[in-house]
Amino acid sequence: MKLNENYRNLKQSYLFAETAHRTNAYIEAHPDQKVIRLGIGDVTLPLAQSVVQAMQEAAAEMGKAETFRGYGPEQGYAFLREAIRDYYARNGVAIDADEVFITDGAKSDTGNITDLFDQDNVILVPDPVYPVYVDTNTMNGRKIIYADANKENDFLPMPDPSVHADIIYICSPNNPTGAAYNKDQLKAWVDYALANEALLLYDSAYECFVGQEGLPRSIFQIPGAKKCAIEFCSLSKTAGFTGTRCGYTIVPKELVFAASDGTEMSVRQMWLRRQTTKFNGVSYIIQRGAAAVFTEEGMAECRKNIEYYKENAKIIADTFTELGINFYGGINSPYIWFECPFGMESWAFFDYMLEKIQVVGTPGAGFGANGTNYFRLTSFGSRENTVEAMSRFLKMMAEA
Ligand code: PLP
Repeated sequence: MKLNENYRNLKQSYLFAETAHRTNAYIEAHPDQKVIRLGIGDVTLPLAQSVVQAMQEAAAEMGKAETFRGYGPEQGYAFLREAIRDYYARNGVAIDADEVFITDGAKSDTGNITDLFDQDNVILVPDPVYPVYVDTNTMNGRKIIYADANKENDFLPMPDPSVHADIIYICSPNNPTGAAYNKDQLKAWVDYALANEALLLYDSAYECFVGQEGLPRSIFQIPGAKKCAIEFCSLSKTAGFTGTRCGYTIVPKELVFAASDGTEMSVRQMWLRRQTTKFNGVSYIIQRGAAAVFTEEGMAECRKNIEYYKENAKIIADTFTELGINFYGGINSPYIWFECPFGMESWAFFDYMLEKIQVVGTPGAGFGANGTNYFRLTSFGSRENTVEAMSRFLKMMAEA
């Protein structure tokens, strides 16, 4: 028996396991201190009432012989896939319901999609970014190259025509930097992918935070994208489904690549085959709750929660503006990304903030080398905690 030794090339522990470990050790040593967590990107507001009601009704259906359901379609129930198709149509994007795949979240699918690709592909990943793209390809032993995101390019790296990549991850609005691409910038990535016969894996988990007029919320708003892109989305941030678990992946029928013998292979067909083999679908109850998100009432309730988080982001952003600290994000994103004060390295700043003001954030180093001197705060806390954390932050800076 031989193990997959690529696992030895992974970082020791998942980023959030390490921040939790350090936070818990601090709490144990200082049980009387109130620690405020603005670190992990988990939501805090409860589910919308229309979502809860839909799930209760679905649970009741499961308790009656006439309406009980067993295994559902692996790709997801038509009622939810059609609701998502209509949601895209309202945003000006035409997709078919059978291009939508319902999943238990974007984390699974951004990781599982790697099943479809040969080991020899060169993977291009922005640095910094959500760590799952790098980790899942490292597990498969693939070659990873990086697109540097930094101050010089406002954390929005653009394609370099002299570099060839086969698979490109894009996360917009970005986790952790909060930076969001405009249409021209995304068009440059689509053009690059088409020219290189490459595939774009577009993670739009934060699309619901895009507020600026004219900014795209889907890669499929860009002409040509259906020939070169898969889009992953999630209800985690849109509707507070981090614990409920539901997301969706759009794999266009136009996405076709030539096999080594020249035969055309449909990526959608391959993904369908993969899902029907390895996945038995999302629970009916959850899918009913998810469908309620896309109703007029559900959308309005979810919007209210997003506005609440955006107001928290503004409170953080205003504090940083007041302090003259340069930051990114916070407008089209729940994340605020800033350069660590005092020229500190990000893990050192994590410990410093925990020690001085008992506020937990996420060290930029956990998202890539370009995050070494940066730090991420999230707006997913309560209003009270966000205000309190910022007043502690102001005090910390005044006393430094
Ligand atoms: N993609 C990005 C960029 C994320 O930041 C996250 C979660 O924080 C996810 C995907 C995971 O989403 P889900 O909860 O749907 O698995």
